[in-house]
This record gives sequence, C-alpha cells and structure tokens, in this order.
Amino acid sequence: MSTATPRIPATLIAGDGIGPEIMEATLQALDALGAPFDWDAQTAGLGGIQAAGDPLPDATLASIRKTRLALKGPLETPSGGGYRSSNVRLREAFQLYANVRPTRTLIPGGRYENIDLLVVRENLEGLYIGHEAYIPIDDDPHAVAMATGVNTRKGSLRLLEYAFEHAIATGRKKVTLVHKANIMKALTGLFLETGQQLWERKYKGRIELDSVIIDACAMKLVLNPWQFDVLVTTNLFGDILSDLTAGLVGGLGMAPGANIGTDAAIFEAVHGSAPDIAGKGIANPTALMLAAAMMLDHCKLSEMATRLRQALDATFNADGVRTGDLKGKANTAEFTKALIARI
Ligand code: NAD
Repeated sequence: MSTATPRIPATLIAGDGIGPEIMEATLQALDALGAPFDWDAQTAGLGGIQAAGDPLPDATLASIRKTRLALKGPLETPSGGGYRSSNVRLREAFQLYANVRPTRTLIPGGRYENIDLLVVRENLEGLYIGHEAYIPIDDDPHAVAMATGVNTRKGSLRLLEYAFEHAIATGRKKVTLVHKANIMKALTGLFLETGQQLWERKYKGRIELDSVIIDACAMKLVLNPWQFDVLVTTNLFGDILSDLTAGLVGGLGMAPGANIGTDAAIFEAVHGSAPDIAGKGIANPTALMLAAAMMLDHCKLSEMATRLRQALDATFNADGVRTGDLKGKANTAEFTKALIARI
C-alpha cells in the first residue's frame, strides 16, 4: 500500500511586477520540500488583462472555486482610477473575511529583537467597500470627495471569533482590539463593542483582552512592540498596522499574509508588485515563501512548513545570505539556491 502524501489541487497566480520572479523561487523551495500541490496556473491583475482582457478572468475564479486554495503573487492596481483591485474582488468573491498577517524576527541584530506579533484584519468591510463619490462644484468635478465605511455586527463577529479561536489554538496570550471609537463612534465603535461582548461571553478566562486607539497603537508599536501579542482590527487600520509591524522585522520583503474565508483560502506576500525593481532579479522572495509556509500549515503539512522556516533561518543567519533589501549581496536566484541547499 502506498504511503505517499495525497496530492492537493491548488491555484497558482504568479502575479505582476516581481511576482513571477518570487513565485519561481517559492515553487523551487516547495518542490525541494516535496510539497504535494498540483498547481493550476491562472492569471489576474495586469497579467489577467494581458492574457484574457480582464483583471480577474472567469477561468481564475472557476479554478479557485474548485481548488478552494491559492498561492498568489502581488497584483498591480492603478491608483486614483482604472480598474478595481483584483485583490479586493477576490476577497469578496470567496468571502475571505480574515486577513492574517504574522511578523516574526528572522534576522537578529536589527533595531527590534524577538518580535512575534500577529495582526488579524477584517478583510471585507469598513472603508474598503469602495462606496466613493465626487460632488462637482462649479467647474471642479472633484470639488468634494466622499467615502462610506460599513461595518456590520455579523461581519465583525465572524472575524473576531476567528481571531480569538486562532489566537487560543496557537498559544497566544493576549488579544488587543484596535479601533478609533472615540471619533468614528459608530463605524469602529460597533467593532469594539462586538469584540468586548464576545470576549465576555465566550473567551474570558481563556485569553487576555485589552483595547487601544489606532493612533496610540502606532506609537506604542514603535516604542515597545513587545507589549502586544495579537492585534485585531478593522480593514483600513489593519492594512496600515501590518505594514508597520513588517517594518519592525526588516520590511515588506519579510511579511506574509493569509486570506481566510468560508469558501477558500488565498496565501500571498503583504508587499506589492514592486515595479521599481521588477525584472532585475533582485527581489526578496522571503515573504511569499513564508506565505507558502502558512499555506502548508493550513493544509496540515506543518512539518514541511517548519522545515521551510528553519531553512530560511539558516540561510539568513548561519550562511549570512541575504538579498539587497536586507543589506545583503545575493540576488533572488542566489538566495534561492542557498535556501534550497538548507532544505
Ligand atoms: P510595493 O510593496 O510594491 O513596494 C514598496 C517598496 O518596497 C518598493 O520600494 C519595493 O521595491 C519594495 N519591495 C516590496 N517588495 C519587495 C521584495 N519582495 N523585495 C525587495 N523589495 C521589495 O508597494 P507599492 O509600490 O505601493 O505598490 C506597487 C503595486 O503593487 C501597486 O499597483 C499596488 O496596488 C500593488 N499592491 C499589491 C498588493 C497585493 O497584490 N497583495 C499589495 C500591495 C500593493
């Protein structure tokens, strides 16, 4: 009888800009681990427009609907006009309500040591829903701009429930609710109130809870990040705070993210397509590799995930091999070769 690990169908979107470069590196690492994914390669973002005339082609949606699992490179989104973000559309299409963004110190000796933080961000509501409008006055078509944020009790509750359960299951000690309920009393007050009530009802005694206003949270993270453990917050605040926490451990090249939903899970780097360095072969593939490690954990292949994280640690620290964004000399291919030698 065969004892081979069952194959796992998964959608692969290489993405735009540096996407194909870091995806190639990540696939090499997954192959070296013997990860049992059967990839269905699809496109989105600029790649989707080039391949199918659509930033989110039907074939991509159909593939994820089938596999319920995807590894995705960064997708370009035009600012201030043009097509709507394919990332936001993917979150909506598959109800990816929880955005999970861990940051851990991988390279000691930086400005902050021993960082181990988790940001859990509500991924579908808040100010990201895209209800925006201009009001023209006289000859200025953009005289007034408006945006509406929407948070619901139901949406807040499912995200908060996920965050508490995940925090407890992974041995975390404290959840901090991050809000701006002093000013946006309804929009973020509802999120805060729902979190506090849920904790009282279901999680009190199992995990500690506190809360902090977003601006104070940003300052405290810079002064003393070790006072936090799991930060749970609404869409826009979570997007900003998770870049801040990435900065504590060496920047965006080190930060992975998981989008967890009822219908699928999509794993990606937190950073974008880095058009300034695309095509130069110098991008740091670590964030996407760490996202792949989260995907392995999600598929209950934690032993492989641990091996990948340990190989990254050995490459950075024992071998001293790093890409340029980490003040190293290795290009993407050299870094990947050194990493694979450690797997
Ligand atoms: P960015 O994250 O692409 O780049 C910010 C800076 O970080 C740049 O200087 C870049 O060179 C550097 N950087 C990012 N990733 C790196 C890596 N792996 N290795 C080395 N350096 C790295 O942010 P941006 O320039 O604001 O956005 C560019 C595009 O990416 C935009 O179209 C934006 O909409 C999109 N974006 C996509 C996602 C996603 O798909 N999840 C996330 C953020 C931004």
